[in-house]
Amino acid sequence: AAAPVNGEKRVLLAAPRGYCAGVDRAVIAVEKALEHYGAPVYVRKQIVHNKHVVSTLEERGAIFVDETDEVPEGELLIFSAHGVSPAVVQSAEDRGLRTIDATCPLVTKVHREAVRFAKNDNEILLIGHEDHEEVEGTYGEAPESTTIVNNPAEARTVQVKNPDKLIWLSQTTLSVDETMEIVNILRERFPNLQDPPSDDICYATSNRQAAIKKIAPQADLVIVVGSANSSNSVRLVEVALEYGAKAAYRVDYAHQVDENWLAGVGTVGLTSGASVPEILVQDVTRLLADYGYGDVSEVVTAEEDILFSLPKEIRATLKERG
Ligand code: SF4
Repeated sequence: AAAPVNGEKRVLLAAPRGYCAGVDRAVIAVEKALEHYGAPVYVRKQIVHNKHVVSTLEERGAIFVDETDEVPEGELLIFSAHGVSPAVVQSAEDRGLRTIDATCPLVTKVHREAVRFAKNDNEILLIGHEDHEEVEGTYGEAPESTTIVNNPAEARTVQVKNPDKLIWLSQTTLSVDETMEIVNILRERFPNLQDPPSDDICYATSNRQAAIKKIAPQADLVIVVGSANSSNSVRLVEVALEYGAKAAYRVDYAHQVDENWLAGVGTVGLTSGASVPEILVQDVTRLLADYGYGDVSEVVTAEEDILFSLPKEIRATLKERG
C-alpha cells in the first residue's frame, strides 16, 4: 500500500471486542451437546450470527435448520442465542423434540418484560429490525400488544391505541445513539411513554460501540470483523463512520481485506462483533503486519467479566455424568 498521509502505520485494536458472554455460552452449549449426546445435534437458525462459528460446528456434526418441522421427530434441537417465540417452543414440543434453550439470558430478560407489560394491558413499542430473529422471538411473546419500530421514520408515524399505557423495549444489539433518537421522537409524540426497567441494549453491544467511538476519530480506516447478518457487527461499521473514521468496512475473514483500502492509510482501527472468535481478528492483525502495520496498541475502554451459566438442560446432563 502507498505510504500513509500522516505519520506512521499503526493499528488501534478496540477492547472490548469479540465474544460476549451470551455467544460464548451458546457455542459451548452446542459443543457440549455434540460431546455428550453425539451427532447429529439440530440447531434452529444459526446458533450465533457468524459464518466461521457455524461452519466449524457443522463440521463437528451440528445441523442447522430454519424451522422445527425440518427436525426428525424425537431428535435433539437447540434454540439459538437470539431466542424463540412461544409458538416455536410449542411446535418443537408438538413434534416430540428434546430441546436445549441457548437463548442469551439478556434476550430472555426482554422476553419477560414483554410478557409482564402486555399482561398489565400496556402497549409495547419494540424498537428493532423486524427481520431479525431476536425481534421475531420477542414480538411473538405478545403479538397483539406489540408494534415493531424499525427506524426513526417509523417512530414519526407509528399509531398507538392508548398513549398513556405505552412502553418501549428494544432489540439487544442496536446502535445506542439511534435507539435514543427513536425514543426521543416517540416521547415527543407520546409524553407518557415509559422506559424499560433497565436497558435492553446489552452491555456487550454498548461496550463494543464505546470502544470504536474512541478509536474512530483517529482512524483513516476501520475494519470490523463480523458477518453480514450480525446486527451488532453491522452497527459497529455505522458507528465508526459516524464518529469520524474516514472509511469503515466489515469482513468475515482476513482475506477479504482489500489492499486498496490501505492506500494512504496511517491508522487502522480494528474491532469485531460479539459473535466473532478472536482467531479471526488475529488473522487480520497478521495480514496487516504483512502490509507494514505491525505496531498494534489496544485501546481499552471497559473490562468485561460477565459469565453466564450453561443452559439448564446441559448442566443437568453434566451433573448426571459427573
Ligand atoms: Fe447476549 Fe448481548 Fe451477546 Fe446478544 S450480544 S448474546 S444479548 S450478551
